[in-house]
Amino acid sequence: MAKLCVIGSCSMDLVVTSSRRPGAGETVLGDSFKTVPGGKGANQAVAAARLGAEVTMIGCVGKDSFGEVILHNLKENDVFIDNVEPVTHRESGTAHIVLAEGDNSIIVVKGANDLVTPEYVESCASVLHTADMVLIQQEIPVETVAFVSEFCATHQIPLLLNPAPARDLEASVIEQATYITPNEHEAALMFGGLSTSEALRKYPNKLLITEGKQGVRYFDGEQEVLVPSYIVEAVDTTGAGDTFNGAFAVARAEGKSLYDSIQFANRAASLSVTKFGAQGGMPKRTDVEASL
Ligand code: ATP
Repeated sequence: MAKLCVIGSCSMDLVVTSSRRPGAGETVLGDSFKTVPGGKGANQAVAAARLGAEVTMIGCVGKDSFGEVILHNLKENDVFIDNVEPVTHRESGTAHIVLAEGDNSIIVVKGANDLVTPEYVESCASVLHTADMVLIQQEIPVETVAFVSEFCATHQIPLLLNPAPARDLEASVIEQATYITPNEHEAALMFGGLSTSEALRKYPNKLLITEGKQGVRYFDGEQEVLVPSYIVEAVDTTGAGDTFNGAFAVARAEGKSLYDSIQFANRAASLSVTKFGAQGGMPKRTDVEASL
């Protein structure tokens, strides 16, 4: 069984649907409201645990009702939560999402996710040492991402960096990570001066660019490879990237080849978009294997 450690955000998504979004100073009547646990860290932890990995989450939530629901949801999905700290001086992270006019507008309040500091992660170092792979994203402080990549490189622990949401990354972080998985938009921001092909060639077998329903592109040292995704009827693509990352880490930590791991993760991610919600569509191991 693959042992994974996910360091990242745990949040509550507050989702309103409305026929249109209000302008400044305006009030409109919405159609529906729901709360769903999210955050890229928690989503990737749940994706990996559903696929059979032993997953430990390192993160922070507020000591509030959202925090309780977030922890309960992780536990229900068999994610170990001993290293998710409920804190009193910050509220749980939230994403305020308005779905209107066929598009979404989102305000993220980082809250307790800002307390996932290098010092906090260092206090959980024993978990990192036992992991087959560590996963990290960018909804936690930038210094923490730098600390974790240095730590993993020093101790030779494989690190999967999902650089989402996009922000500037130090070159050393890119060098130290084992895998980097931007989507096309994030890749364009990260490697602005380079074409996609140039960026891929610079980081063979490391840079995996996810291209939505097209699949995933990387450079294998000799040629560019596109691992195609699967044709499905997409209902909600939220969390496709998180499912991809969680699934890829499981497969790679189990020893599957790079190509086979991407194929496995494409299958998992394509299944995830056939249902509503980031975590709602994340498949179980048997669902993926039955349809590979
Ligand atoms: P999101 O932000 O929506 O979670 P993302 O932008 O980080 O996703 P994408 O590149 O859109 O990442 O998708 C990640 C992976 O999910 C793709 O490489 C692919 O394997 C799968 N995927 C996404 N959308 C589809 C789709 N419509 N059909 C099949 N597979 C899909």
